[in-house]
Amino acid sequence: MTTETTTFASLNLAPEILRAIEEQGYTKPTPIQAQAIPLVLEGRDLMAGAQTGTGKTAAFTLPLLQKLLPQASTSASPARHPVRALILTPTRELAIQVEESVKAYGKHLPLRSLVVFGGVDIKTQTPSLMRGVEILVATPGRLLDHIEQRTVQLNQVQMLILDEADRMLDMGFMPDLKRILALLPKERQNLMFSATFSNEIKKLADDFLTDPTLIEVARSNATSENVQQKIYRVDQTDKHALLAELLRTQNVQTIVFTKTKLTASRLARLLQREGVAADAIHGDKSQQERMQALDAFKQGKVTTLVATDVAARGLDIDQLPMVINYEIPHAPEDYVHRIGRTGRAGALGVAISLVAPEEEKYLKEIEKLIKREIPQENTPRLQHRPERQRDREAAPRKVASTPARKSNDPWFDRPYEPADSSIDAPLRHTPRPVSKQKREIPALLGGLLRKD
Ligand code: AMP
Repeated sequence: MTTETTTFASLNLAPEILRAIEEQGYTKPTPIQAQAIPLVLEGRDLMAGAQTGTGKTAAFTLPLLQKLLPQASTSASPARHPVRALILTPTRELAIQVEESVKAYGKHLPLRSLVVFGGVDIKTQTPSLMRGVEILVATPGRLLDHIEQRTVQLNQVQMLILDEADRMLDMGFMPDLKRILALLPKERQNLMFSATFSNEIKKLADDFLTDPTLIEVARSNATSENVQQKIYRVDQTDKHALLAELLRTQNVQTIVFTKTKLTASRLARLLQREGVAADAIHGDKSQQERMQALDAFKQGKVTTLVATDVAARGLDIDQLPMVINYEIPHAPEDYVHRIGRTGRAGALGVAISLVAPEEEKYLKEIEKLIKREIPQENTPRLQHRPERQRDREAAPRKVASTPARKSNDPWFDRPYEPADSSIDAPLRHTPRPVSKQKREIPALLGGLLRKD
Protein backbone atom coordinates (compact mmCIF):
# COMPACT_ATOMS: atom_id res chain seq x y z
CA MET A 1 0.00 0.00 0.00
CA THR A 2 1.38 3.46 -0.82
CA THR A 3 1.23 6.16 1.79
CA GLU A 4 -1.46 7.97 -0.24
CA THR A 5 -3.89 5.08 0.15
CA THR A 6 -3.07 4.31 3.79
CA THR A 7 -6.03 4.41 6.13
CA PHE A 8 -5.94 4.70 9.91
CA ALA A 9 -7.62 1.29 10.10
CA SER A 10 -4.69 -0.28 8.23
CA LEU A 11 -2.11 1.03 10.71
CA ASN A 12 -2.56 -1.60 13.42
CA LEU A 13 -3.78 0.83 16.03
CA ALA A 14 -6.02 -0.23 18.91
CA PRO A 15 -9.79 0.36 18.56
CA GLU A 16 -9.65 2.88 21.44
CA ILE A 17 -7.10 4.94 19.54
CA LEU A 18 -9.05 4.68 16.28
CA ARG A 19 -12.15 5.86 18.12
CA ALA A 20 -10.31 8.91 19.46
CA ILE A 21 -9.00 9.70 15.95
CA GLU A 22 -12.50 9.48 14.58
CA GLU A 23 -13.75 11.80 17.29
CA GLN A 24 -11.11 14.30 16.21
CA GLY A 25 -12.72 14.19 12.77
CA TYR A 26 -9.63 12.91 10.97
CA THR A 27 -10.57 10.78 7.99
CA LYS A 28 -7.15 9.71 6.75
CA PRO A 29 -3.55 9.88 7.92
CA THR A 30 -1.45 12.79 6.74
CA PRO A 31 1.69 11.80 4.78
CA ILE A 32 3.96 12.06 7.83
CA GLN A 33 1.56 9.90 9.83
CA ALA A 34 1.30 7.27 7.09
CA GLN A 35 5.09 7.07 6.94
CA ALA A 36 6.01 7.40 10.60
CA ILE A 37 3.41 5.28 12.38
CA PRO A 38 4.46 1.86 10.98
CA LEU A 39 8.15 2.64 11.57
CA VAL A 40 7.61 3.73 15.16
CA LEU A 41 5.49 0.64 15.82
CA GLU A 42 8.37 -1.45 14.45
CA GLY A 43 10.62 0.15 17.06
CA ARG A 44 12.83 2.10 14.65
CA ASP A 45 14.61 5.32 15.55
CA LEU A 46 13.38 8.15 13.35
CA MET A 47 14.71 11.40 12.03
CA ALA A 48 11.65 13.12 10.68
CA GLY A 49 11.69 16.29 8.65
CA ALA A 50 8.29 17.82 9.21
CA GLN A 51 7.03 21.21 10.11
CA THR A 52 4.22 22.10 12.45
CA GLY A 53 0.99 21.81 10.50
CA THR A 54 1.82 18.49 8.86
CA GLY A 55 0.18 16.39 11.59
CA LYS A 56 3.55 15.47 13.12
CA THR A 57 2.24 15.40 16.69
CA ALA A 58 -0.17 12.57 15.92
CA ALA A 59 2.60 10.93 13.86
CA PHE A 60 4.55 10.24 17.04
CA THR A 61 1.73 10.25 19.62
CA LEU A 62 -0.50 7.60 18.04
CA PRO A 63 2.17 4.87 17.81
CA LEU A 64 3.54 5.93 21.20
CA LEU A 65 0.14 5.28 22.78
CA GLN A 66 -0.12 2.00 20.94
CA LYS A 67 3.30 0.89 22.20
CA LEU A 68 2.56 1.82 25.82
CA LEU A 69 -0.86 0.20 25.77
CA PRO A 70 0.27 -3.25 27.03
CA GLN A 71 1.72 -1.54 30.13
CA ALA A 72 -1.34 0.63 30.79
CA SER A 73 -2.62 0.16 34.29
CA THR A 74 -5.69 1.24 36.18
CA SER A 75 -3.85 0.82 39.47
CA ALA A 76 -3.61 3.92 41.66
CA SER A 77 -0.06 3.07 42.72
CA PRO A 78 2.56 5.54 41.40
CA ALA A 79 4.94 2.60 40.96
CA ARG A 80 2.65 1.28 38.21
CA HIS A 81 2.87 4.57 36.32
CA PRO A 82 6.55 5.33 35.73
CA VAL A 83 7.54 7.77 32.99
CA ARG A 84 7.83 5.55 29.92
CA ALA A 85 7.70 8.18 27.18
CA LEU A 86 9.40 11.55 27.41
CA ILE A 87 8.54 14.28 24.91
CA LEU A 88 10.77 17.35 24.96
CA THR A 89 9.73 20.59 23.28
CA PRO A 90 11.45 23.97 23.05
CA THR A 91 8.56 26.15 24.19
CA ARG A 92 5.85 26.03 26.80
CA GLU A 93 3.16 26.67 24.21
CA LEU A 94 4.24 23.71 22.13
CA ALA A 95 4.50 21.54 25.24
CA ILE A 96 0.94 22.43 26.19
CA GLN A 97 -0.35 21.70 22.71
CA VAL A 98 1.45 18.40 22.44
CA GLU A 99 0.07 17.26 25.78
CA GLU A 100 -3.42 18.31 24.73
CA SER A 101 -3.00 16.06 21.69
CA VAL A 102 -1.73 13.19 23.85
CA LYS A 103 -4.82 13.58 26.03
CA ALA A 104 -7.15 13.77 23.04
CA TYR A 105 -5.73 10.71 21.25
CA GLY A 106 -5.38 8.74 24.48
CA LYS A 107 -8.73 9.67 25.98
CA HIS A 108 -10.05 6.09 25.90
CA LEU A 109 -6.89 4.58 27.38
CA PRO A 110 -5.83 4.30 31.03
CA LEU A 111 -2.51 6.03 30.31
CA ARG A 112 -1.60 9.17 32.21
CA SER A 113 0.08 12.21 30.75
CA LEU A 114 1.33 15.49 32.16
CA VAL A 115 2.98 18.63 30.88
CA VAL A 116 5.64 20.50 32.87
CA PHE A 117 7.19 23.80 31.85
CA GLY A 118 8.88 26.76 33.45
CA GLY A 119 7.40 30.12 34.33
CA VAL A 120 4.87 28.66 36.74
CA ASP A 121 5.27 27.56 40.35
CA ILE A 122 7.04 24.20 40.31
CA LYS A 123 5.08 23.09 43.36
CA THR A 124 1.84 23.03 41.37
CA GLN A 125 3.33 20.37 39.08
CA THR A 126 4.84 18.14 41.76
CA PRO A 127 1.74 16.32 43.12
CA SER A 128 0.62 15.12 39.66
CA LEU A 129 4.16 14.10 38.83
CA MET A 130 4.49 12.15 42.09
CA ARG A 131 1.20 10.33 41.40
CA GLY A 132 2.88 8.84 38.34
CA VAL A 133 2.54 9.52 34.60
CA GLU A 134 3.47 7.34 31.65
CA ILE A 135 3.80 10.18 29.18
CA LEU A 136 5.63 13.30 30.24
CA VAL A 137 5.78 16.36 27.99
CA ALA A 138 8.36 18.88 29.19
CA THR A 139 10.54 21.82 28.34
CA PRO A 140 14.16 20.92 29.14
CA GLY A 141 14.86 23.51 31.87
CA ARG A 142 11.86 22.67 34.00
CA LEU A 143 12.44 18.96 33.59
CA LEU A 144 15.94 19.44 35.01
CA ASP A 145 14.45 21.36 37.95
CA HIS A 146 12.22 18.39 38.69
CA ILE A 147 15.12 16.00 38.33
CA GLU A 148 17.11 18.06 40.83
CA GLN A 149 14.21 18.08 43.25
CA ARG A 150 13.83 14.32 42.78
CA THR A 151 10.20 14.70 41.85
CA VAL A 152 10.68 12.68 38.68
CA GLN A 153 12.60 9.54 37.75
CA LEU A 154 13.56 8.78 34.19
CA ASN A 155 15.09 5.34 34.57
CA GLN A 156 12.17 3.59 32.87
CA VAL A 157 11.91 5.77 29.79
CA GLN A 158 11.49 3.59 26.70
CA MET A 159 10.76 6.31 24.19
CA LEU A 160 12.26 9.76 23.79
CA ILE A 161 10.80 12.30 21.40
CA LEU A 162 12.57 15.54 20.56
CA ASP A 163 10.02 17.81 18.99
CA GLU A 164 11.23 20.81 16.99
CA ALA A 165 14.81 19.80 17.65
CA ASP A 166 16.16 22.59 15.45
CA ARG A 167 14.48 25.20 17.58
CA MET A 168 15.74 23.56 20.74
CA LEU A 169 19.26 24.02 19.47
CA ASP A 170 18.52 27.59 18.35
CA MET A 171 17.32 28.34 21.85
CA GLY A 172 20.49 27.00 23.43
CA PHE A 173 19.07 23.84 24.97
CA MET A 174 21.95 21.60 23.92
CA PRO A 175 23.63 21.45 27.37
CA ASP A 176 20.26 20.73 29.03
CA LEU A 177 19.49 18.04 26.47
CA LYS A 178 22.82 16.36 27.09
CA ARG A 179 22.21 16.29 30.83
CA ILE A 180 18.77 14.80 30.34
CA LEU A 181 19.93 12.21 27.80
CA ALA A 182 22.60 11.02 30.21
CA LEU A 183 19.88 10.09 32.73
CA LEU A 184 17.85 7.91 30.37
CA PRO A 185 18.26 4.16 29.93
CA LYS A 186 20.57 3.35 27.00
CA GLU A 187 18.02 0.94 25.55
CA ARG A 188 15.26 3.12 24.20
CA GLN A 189 13.59 4.28 21.02
CA ASN A 190 14.37 7.81 19.85
CA LEU A 191 12.33 10.00 17.55
CA MET A 192 13.54 13.36 16.41
CA PHE A 193 11.39 15.89 14.60
CA SER A 194 12.88 18.96 13.00
CA ALA A 195 11.61 21.44 10.46
CA THR A 196 15.07 22.23 9.15
CA PHE A 197 18.34 20.36 8.83
CA SER A 198 21.52 22.09 9.83
CA ASN A 199 24.94 20.64 10.58
CA GLU A 200 24.13 20.86 14.28
CA ILE A 201 20.94 18.88 13.79
CA LYS A 202 22.93 16.33 11.85
CA LYS A 203 25.37 16.12 14.74
CA LEU A 204 22.57 15.77 17.29
CA ALA A 205 21.00 13.00 15.20
CA ASP A 206 24.39 11.31 15.03
CA ASP A 207 24.78 11.53 18.80
CA PHE A 208 21.52 10.17 19.95
CA LEU A 209 19.78 8.18 17.22
CA THR A 210 20.61 4.56 16.47
CA ASP A 211 20.50 3.55 12.82
CA PRO A 212 17.66 5.98 12.17
CA THR A 213 15.26 5.98 9.29
CA LEU A 214 14.86 9.32 7.60
CA ILE A 215 11.38 10.35 6.67
CA GLU A 216 10.39 13.63 5.18
CA VAL A 217 7.06 14.93 4.02
CA ALA A 218 8.10 18.11 2.36
CA ARG A 219 11.43 19.36 1.19
CA SER A 220 12.92 21.11 4.16
CA ASN A 221 12.27 24.81 3.92
CA ALA A 222 9.49 24.25 1.41
CA THR A 223 6.50 26.44 1.96
CA SER A 224 2.97 25.12 1.87
CA GLU A 225 1.22 25.38 -1.45
CA ASN A 226 -1.94 26.26 0.44
CA VAL A 227 -0.42 29.56 1.48
CA GLN A 228 -0.79 32.47 -0.88
CA GLN A 229 2.29 34.59 -0.33
CA LYS A 230 2.63 38.23 -1.24
CA ILE A 231 4.75 41.20 -0.40
CA TYR A 232 4.13 44.90 -0.12
CA ARG A 233 7.12 47.15 -0.64
CA VAL A 234 6.67 49.91 1.87
CA ASP A 235 8.81 52.33 3.86
CA GLN A 236 9.27 51.40 7.50
CA THR A 237 7.45 54.62 8.38
CA ASP A 238 4.37 53.53 6.41
CA LYS A 239 4.19 49.98 7.69
CA HIS A 240 1.91 50.62 10.58
CA ALA A 241 -0.71 52.40 8.44
CA LEU A 242 -0.60 49.64 5.86
CA LEU A 243 -0.91 47.02 8.58
CA ALA A 244 -3.93 48.72 10.11
CA GLU A 245 -5.49 48.96 6.67
CA LEU A 246 -4.87 45.29 5.87
CA LEU A 247 -6.33 44.23 9.21
CA ARG A 248 -9.35 46.42 8.59
CA THR A 249 -10.04 45.31 5.02
CA GLN A 250 -9.34 41.61 5.54
CA ASN A 251 -11.04 41.42 8.90
CA VAL A 252 -9.80 37.91 9.72
CA GLN A 253 -7.88 36.32 12.58
CA THR A 254 -4.27 37.31 12.01
CA ILE A 255 -0.88 36.73 13.57
CA VAL A 256 1.45 39.68 13.03
CA PHE A 257 5.15 38.89 13.38
CA THR A 258 7.77 41.27 14.68
CA LYS A 259 11.45 40.70 15.30
CA THR A 260 11.61 41.99 18.84
CA LYS A 261 9.53 41.71 21.98
CA LEU A 262 9.55 45.48 22.29
CA THR A 263 8.06 46.03 18.85
CA ALA A 264 5.48 43.30 19.52
CA SER A 265 4.28 45.03 22.72
CA ARG A 266 4.27 48.49 21.21
CA LEU A 267 2.51 47.44 18.06
CA ALA A 268 -0.17 45.56 19.99
CA ARG A 269 -0.76 48.60 22.21
CA LEU A 270 -0.94 50.89 19.20
CA LEU A 271 -3.43 48.64 17.45
CA GLN A 272 -5.52 48.44 20.61
CA ARG A 273 -5.68 52.22 20.71
CA GLU A 274 -7.08 52.14 17.20
CA GLY A 275 -9.82 49.76 18.20
CA VAL A 276 -8.24 46.54 16.93
CA ALA A 277 -8.74 43.64 19.34
CA ALA A 278 -5.00 42.99 19.53
CA ASP A 279 -2.68 41.40 22.04
CA ALA A 280 1.00 40.51 22.12
CA ILE A 281 2.63 37.18 22.86
CA HIS A 282 6.34 37.08 23.60
CA GLY A 283 8.91 35.74 26.02
CA ASP A 284 8.76 38.66 28.46
CA LYS A 285 5.14 37.96 29.27
CA SER A 286 4.31 35.66 32.12
CA GLN A 287 3.16 32.19 31.24
CA GLN A 288 -0.32 33.08 32.41
CA GLU A 289 -0.46 36.18 30.22
CA ARG A 290 0.70 34.19 27.21
CA MET A 291 -1.86 31.50 27.80
CA GLN A 292 -4.62 34.06 28.28
CA ALA A 293 -3.66 35.84 25.06
CA LEU A 294 -3.58 32.57 23.15
CA ASP A 295 -6.93 31.45 24.56
CA ALA A 296 -8.53 34.79 23.75
CA PHE A 297 -7.17 34.52 20.22
CA LYS A 298 -8.40 30.96 19.81
CA GLN A 299 -11.84 32.04 20.99
CA GLY A 300 -11.86 35.02 18.62
CA LYS A 301 -11.99 37.61 21.42
CA VAL A 302 -8.62 38.81 20.20
CA THR A 303 -8.43 39.07 16.41
CA THR A 304 -4.80 40.12 16.01
CA LEU A 305 -1.98 38.46 17.88
CA VAL A 306 1.36 40.24 17.60
CA ALA A 307 4.10 37.69 18.14
CA THR A 308 7.84 37.16 18.08
CA ASP A 309 9.28 34.10 16.37
CA VAL A 310 10.10 32.18 19.51
CA ALA A 311 6.72 32.77 21.13
CA ALA A 312 4.81 31.78 18.02
CA ARG A 313 6.82 28.71 17.28
CA GLY A 314 4.66 25.60 17.34
CA LEU A 315 1.40 27.44 17.84
CA ASP A 316 -1.39 25.36 16.46
CA ILE A 317 -4.37 27.49 15.74
CA ASP A 318 -7.00 25.86 13.62
CA GLN A 319 -8.05 27.73 10.55
CA LEU A 320 -5.74 30.71 10.87
CA PRO A 321 -6.44 32.61 7.65
CA MET A 322 -3.66 35.20 7.64
CA VAL A 323 -0.17 35.97 8.87
CA ILE A 324 1.54 39.30 8.34
CA ASN A 325 5.28 39.81 8.60
CA TYR A 326 5.51 43.32 9.97
CA GLU A 327 9.26 42.90 9.95
CA ILE A 328 11.15 40.51 7.71
CA PRO A 329 13.05 37.89 9.68
CA HIS A 330 16.81 37.88 9.27
CA ALA A 331 16.96 34.10 9.31
CA PRO A 332 15.10 32.93 6.20
CA GLU A 333 14.00 29.69 7.93
CA ASP A 334 11.98 31.82 10.32
CA TYR A 335 9.94 33.04 7.35
CA VAL A 336 9.02 29.44 6.55
CA HIS A 337 8.02 28.83 10.16
CA ARG A 338 6.02 32.03 10.35
CA ILE A 339 3.94 31.44 7.26
CA GLY A 340 3.49 27.81 8.30
CA ARG A 341 1.04 29.09 10.94
CA THR A 342 -1.53 29.45 8.18
CA GLY A 343 -2.68 27.15 5.38
CA ARG A 344 -2.66 24.15 7.72
CA ALA A 345 -4.21 20.73 7.41
CA GLY A 346 -5.54 21.49 3.93
CA ALA A 347 -6.98 24.95 4.69
CA LEU A 348 -6.00 27.98 2.62
CA GLY A 349 -4.09 30.89 4.02
CA VAL A 350 -2.54 34.21 3.12
CA ALA A 351 0.94 35.33 4.16
CA ILE A 352 1.74 38.99 3.65
CA SER A 353 5.16 40.52 4.16
CA LEU A 354 5.77 44.22 4.55
CA VAL A 355 9.20 44.83 3.09
CA ALA A 356 11.05 48.07 3.76
CA PRO A 357 13.94 49.00 1.42
CA GLU A 358 16.47 48.09 4.10
CA GLU A 359 14.93 44.61 4.33
CA GLU A 360 15.33 43.74 0.64
CA LYS A 361 18.44 41.70 1.38
CA TYR A 362 16.52 39.49 3.79
CA LEU A 363 13.74 39.05 1.25
CA LYS A 364 16.33 37.87 -1.29
CA GLU A 365 17.58 35.27 1.18
CA ILE A 366 14.05 34.04 1.74
CA GLU A 367 13.32 33.78 -1.97
CA LYS A 368 16.56 31.88 -2.44
CA LEU A 369 15.56 29.46 0.30
CA ILE A 370 12.03 28.82 -0.90
CA LYS A 371 13.18 28.85 -4.51
CA ARG A 372 10.50 31.17 -5.72
CA GLU A 373 9.84 34.85 -6.13
CA ILE A 374 7.08 36.14 -3.90
CA PRO A 375 4.57 38.16 -5.93
CA GLN A 376 4.38 41.83 -5.15
CA GLU A 377 1.13 43.67 -4.53
CA ASN A 378 0.91 47.31 -5.46
CA THR A 379 1.37 49.62 -2.54
CA PRO A 380 -0.29 52.72 -3.86
CA ARG A 381 0.18 54.58 -0.64
CA LEU A 382 3.79 55.04 -1.70
CA GLN A 383 2.51 57.03 -4.65
CA HIS A 384 0.53 59.27 -2.30
CA ARG A 385 3.33 59.64 0.15
CA PRO A 386 4.93 62.90 -0.95
CA GLU A 387 1.53 64.62 -0.90
CA ARG A 388 0.60 63.17 2.47
CA GLN A 389 3.93 64.10 3.88
CA ARG A 390 3.48 67.68 2.73
CA ASP A 391 0.03 67.76 4.31
CA ARG A 392 1.44 66.52 7.53
CA GLU A 393 4.13 69.11 7.58
CA ALA A 394 1.63 71.88 6.90
CA ALA A 395 -0.87 70.69 9.48
CA PRO A 396 -0.50 71.88 13.07
CA ARG A 397 0.92 69.14 15.24
CA LYS A 398 -1.55 67.38 17.43
CA VAL A 399 -0.69 67.50 21.08
CA ALA A 400 -0.22 63.94 22.18
CA SER A 401 -1.96 63.03 25.41
CA THR A 402 0.97 60.83 26.40
CA PRO A 403 4.63 61.75 26.07
CA ALA A 404 6.18 60.56 22.84
CA ARG A 405 8.25 57.42 23.20
CA LYS A 406 11.57 56.80 21.58
CA SER A 407 11.42 54.21 18.85
CA ASN A 408 13.09 53.36 15.59
CA ASP A 409 9.71 53.11 14.00
CA PRO A 410 8.29 56.61 13.72
CA TRP A 411 4.76 55.22 13.65
CA PHE A 412 4.99 54.61 17.33
CA ASP A 413 5.32 58.32 17.86
CA ARG A 414 2.71 59.73 15.60
CA PRO A 415 -1.04 59.52 15.19
CA TYR A 416 -2.46 57.00 12.78
CA GLU A 417 -3.71 58.25 9.46
CA PRO A 418 -6.24 55.93 7.87
CA ALA A 419 -5.15 54.72 4.46
CA ASP A 420 -7.11 55.34 1.32
CA SER A 421 -9.64 52.50 1.37
CA SER A 422 -9.31 52.03 -2.37
CA ILE A 423 -5.74 50.93 -1.90
CA ASP A 424 -6.25 47.25 -1.37
CA ALA A 425 -8.91 45.10 -2.85
CA PRO A 426 -9.86 42.44 -0.31
CA LEU A 427 -7.64 39.40 -0.58
CA ARG A 428 -9.35 36.33 -1.79
CA HIS A 429 -8.25 32.94 -0.55
CA THR A 430 -7.69 31.48 -3.98
CA PRO A 431 -5.48 28.43 -4.09
CA ARG A 432 -2.29 28.73 -6.05
CA PRO A 433 -1.69 26.20 -8.77
CA VAL A 434 -0.05 23.22 -7.18
CA SER A 435 3.59 23.15 -8.09
CA LYS A 436 5.02 19.92 -9.41
CA GLN A 437 8.31 20.59 -7.70
CA LYS A 438 10.23 17.45 -6.86
CA ARG A 439 10.58 16.82 -3.15
CA GLU A 440 14.13 16.09 -2.21
CA ILE A 441 15.90 14.72 0.81
CA PRO A 442 18.24 17.36 2.13
CA ALA A 443 21.68 16.73 0.77
CA LEU A 444 23.21 17.33 4.17
CA LEU A 445 21.63 14.26 5.63
CA GLY A 446 22.25 12.09 2.62
CA GLY A 447 25.43 10.55 3.97
CA LEU A 448 24.24 10.28 7.55
CA LEU A 449 20.87 8.70 7.37
CA ARG A 450 19.57 6.05 5.14
CA LYS A 451 16.15 6.31 3.62
CA ASP A 452 14.30 3.03 3.86
P1 AMP B 1 0.67 19.33 13.95
O1 AMP B 1 1.54 19.33 12.72
O2 AMP B 1 0.87 18.12 14.77
O3 AMP B 1 0.84 20.60 14.73
O4 AMP B 1 -0.85 19.27 13.48
C1 AMP B 1 -1.46 20.27 12.74
C2 AMP B 1 -2.97 20.18 12.74
O5 AMP B 1 -3.41 19.11 11.93
C3 AMP B 1 -3.60 19.98 14.10
O6 AMP B 1 -4.65 20.93 14.23
C4 AMP B 1 -4.15 18.60 14.08
O7 AMP B 1 -5.33 18.51 14.86
C5 AMP B 1 -4.45 18.40 12.61
N1 AMP B 1 -4.35 17.00 12.16
C6 AMP B 1 -3.45 16.07 12.56
N2 AMP B 1 -3.65 14.91 11.92
C7 AMP B 1 -4.69 15.08 11.09
C8 AMP B 1 -5.36 14.23 10.15
N3 AMP B 1 -4.99 12.98 9.94
N4 AMP B 1 -6.39 14.76 9.47
C9 AMP B 1 -6.77 16.05 9.67
N5 AMP B 1 -6.18 16.91 10.53
C10 AMP B 1 -5.15 16.42 11.24
